[in-house]
Amino acid sequence: MSRRKKIYEGKAKILYEGPEPGTLVQYFKDDATAFNNKKKATLEGKGVLNNRISEFIMLNLGRVGVPTHFIRRLNMREQLVREVEIIPLEVICRNVAAGSISQRLGIPEGDALPRSIVEFCYKNDSLNDPLVAEEHITAFNWASTQEIDDIISLTLRVNDFLSGMFAAVGIRLIDFKLEFGRLYEGDMVRTVLADEISPDSCRLWDIETNEKMDKDRFRRDLGNVTEAYAEVARRLGIMKEAPRAANDEAWK
Ligand code: 5GP
Repeated sequence: MSRRKKIYEGKAKILYEGPEPGTLVQYFKDDATAFNNKKKATLEGKGVLNNRISEFIMLNLGRVGVPTHFIRRLNMREQLVREVEIIPLEVICRNVAAGSISQRLGIPEGDALPRSIVEFCYKNDSLNDPLVAEEHITAFNWASTQEIDDIISLTLRVNDFLSGMFAAVGIRLIDFKLEFGRLYEGDMVRTVLADEISPDSCRLWDIETNEKMDKDRFRRDLGNVTEAYAEVARRLGIMKEAPRAANDEAWK
């Protein structure tokens, strides 16, 4: 394999220079981290699963008119994406209380929220991605008011689409995290969905049993992490045999 220029290495993914200007290759690692890197592991096959699940979701969002950075999957661990300027926000959408909102506001985990809630966190590991208000975002120029409006409406569209898509396969979408970027096209700039959408960035519970099928299995030491991700892929019809998902050979 020819050596490519590494643009950025994150906790779960690496970005390489793409084959054409304005493109990048997004490589999915098997590394899992939680609690801002305090807990680490390698989960064999996780990157392969997230590459496929994120491809499936981004493609389907594109089909319903949500602009994304996704171009196409290249192989079992890589996808070609458009180069965007990442907006330094983690945009969280919640339907059911869990995780930090339960801790922060004392709402029991599993309680349905009165309506879907969109939150913004400033994307900064050394500060633990703190929750911020729109006032901070505009005052510090992280995004404009127009971009915030676009982000909220896109996030709610993603929520509607994903909630229905997962419900159809017996999964409840509890919450998820999105990232957005600025796509420059000539004189135009567009806000598009970037990064990934996978069980690493969503909370997914079985509709019947409330069993967790996401990264909380890793965060809370529940075991069978890749098996749960493979079950999500299997239910979405991405693959036929759940146990084979963890095996790179199955994806060639
Ligand atoms: P919470 O704020 O409750 O910890 O997380 C809310 C949702 O956003 C969960 O689905 C969680 O997986 C996702 N999320 C929050 N922060 C991050 C992050 O830094 N990386 C990823 N992959 N997901 C995150």
